[in-house]
Amino acid sequence: MAIVYILGTGYCGTTVLGLSLGVHSAIVDMGELSYLLDNIKTKQSLENFYSKMSCYCGTIMQECSYWKDFYEILINNLDKSFAEKYLIHYNFFKKKNPDKIMVDSSMKLDYFNQIIKVIQKNEVYPILITKDIRNWSISVIKKHGGSVFKRFLGWYFRNRKFSKISYTHLKIGYEEFALFPEEILVKISNYLNIEFEKDMLEPYKSTSHLVWGNKMSKDSSRKSKIFYDYRWFNSYSVCLAFTLMPFVRKLNNTLVYSNNLISKFNYKK
Ligand SMILES: [Zn+2]
Repeated sequence: MAIVYILGTGYCGTTVLGLSLGVHSAIVDMGELSYLLDNIKTKQSLENFYSKMSCYCGTIMQECSYWKDFYEILINNLDKSFAEKYLIHYNFFKKKNPDKIMVDSSMKLDYFNQIIKVIQKNEVYPILITKDIRNWSISVIKKHGGSVFKRFLGWYFRNRKFSKISYTHLKIGYEEFALFPEEILVKISNYLNIEFEKDMLEPYKSTSHLVWGNKMSKDSSRKSKIFYDYRWFNSYSVCLAFTLMPFVRKLNNTLVYSNNLISKFNYKK
């Protein structure tokens, strides 16, 4: 019994990683579970979520075989703190899924720090996933605008926080995961003491019960295998900024290419 908590910044592949893991017969992906539990604070928000939010299994929460049974528990514990609710849910999960591993892909460090206060140390397995700053900046600028410089600093300060985590964790790079998914998924399986299963290479086969972070189910065009977006290769401004900021390059190299799978991406320090 364990919890995999996926740490990272947005747009760095946490959802796909969670889905991939969720395909494994011993794992259930709960998506961005911390966000979900933290955002259900009142009876009204509870009703809203249960009647409107759809689960990855294909139904709304109140009809989902997993979530419908949690309703009664949640309604009696709405006033509890986030950490208390997390523990209550974890005990529910363990009853529903004996011997299974739960994945929470909420990314945020704040949630993680609260979770490790209530869950035993030997039950939490954090995975930190980081996307190459060049690739990440292109995705974020396309979605939200902003200059390359601003996005670079945003990436840097957020990821510097992650790089200082003292809790034992596994570091993976999004590029390693997207380009060498099998090697990375084998590595994660070893970390979790489970056998790698080939089906994990097809994340959209996941039958998990994620609600918050359920964006993939609506995007059918990308529904096949794990793929890599090469757009940044052609972006002059992104590559220039990367050349001009050695501190950023250094952190990028440490976080994204720590498993040494992509030698051709490795540049001289
Ligand atoms: Zn469901």
